[in-house]
Amino acid sequence: MEETPVNLHDLTRNELRLLFARWGLATVHADTVWNRLYLGLATAITEKEMPGLPPRILNRLAAGARLTSPGVALATDSTDGFTRKYLLALEDGRKIETVLMRYSGRVTACVSSQAGCAMGCVFCATGQMGFTRHLAAGEIVAQAVHVARALRGAEAPSEHRLRNIVLMGMGEPLHNYDAVMRAVDILRDPAGLALAAERITLSTVGVVPGILRLARERQPLHLAVSLHAATQEGRAALIPGARRWPIDELMAACRTYSESTGRRIFYEWTLIAGRNDSPEEARELGRLLRGLPAQVNLIPLNPTGGYEGEPSRAEPVRRFQSVLREEFGLPCTVRQRRGIDIAAGCGQLAVNAA
Ligand code: SF4
Repeated sequence: MEETPVNLHDLTRNELRLLFARWGLATVHADTVWNRLYLGLATAITEKEMPGLPPRILNRLAAGARLTSPGVALATDSTDGFTRKYLLALEDGRKIETVLMRYSGRVTACVSSQAGCAMGCVFCATGQMGFTRHLAAGEIVAQAVHVARALRGAEAPSEHRLRNIVLMGMGEPLHNYDAVMRAVDILRDPAGLALAAERITLSTVGVVPGILRLARERQPLHLAVSLHAATQEGRAALIPGARRWPIDELMAACRTYSESTGRRIFYEWTLIAGRNDSPEEARELGRLLRGLPAQVNLIPLNPTGGYEGEPSRAEPVRRFQSVLREEFGLPCTVRQRRGIDIAAGCGQLAVNAA
């Protein structure tokens, strides 16, 4: 029976070794392939991209495996030069977004976990698009490899190495748990891209079973939970996909996660003018987070064509922040909306390019 070629980016290092063993090949060659994949950032199974492999090994690899590097359908730079957004085309023609950000000497890749998204956040271009499919682990890994390749050749390579990943692109990562965690394992491999777990942030709208699984497995990632409202009713209106998880169950899951991992959670709040930016809303949020190890990130809304809300202005943002800080002692930052001129809110590039 003909074997289906396996996507190399889908495999952990151990699985690659097992594959070579199954083929009757020495595992030292698997280590060379791993090195070419994640240190050489190879894009094809060719002698040029994978130097140092004997021809018979390369031929066996080409017959039994494939390497799928997404094509760049569109790349756009923000005017401030800090952000580059890619629209990447997958093998089946689906388009996903990956963003390279360079802020304060840190290089971060924001990667997608699904094509489209089922959560339907009303202000999000991806949510407005609907769900198409889950990404395979290799398709998530390939986005990080794409960014690492884009950085290669920069004048000061040590400062421009990819060190941070945020799973905040298109999709709800905990809706695609297994593929995301497999991708995280591959990205963390010390003989590969070697990303430290504490430099990987997973952002969720609050998929309770996923949060509890992260807690059980003690996954040492940073967790960001998008709240946007402090009541069940308010969240249901902004995040229709989160309706099935009552807010008290969500907060109980967050508590369990913090207790079992010893980590505080980042709580994200998109500030929409006149909708959820009043001092009273800030107090509700402060009460909700009382006693939890928490950091709040406020993000003024990134406008999208499909939602009429406006970003909060500077004064309500400042007031909201000071209520949380001064009345509740919560660490609270305002995230800058850089890259807005290239539609850096998730899904916007795909919508604009459609
Ligand atoms: S904000 Fe995230 S979870 Fe919500 S619809 Fe957009 S991609 Fe999905």
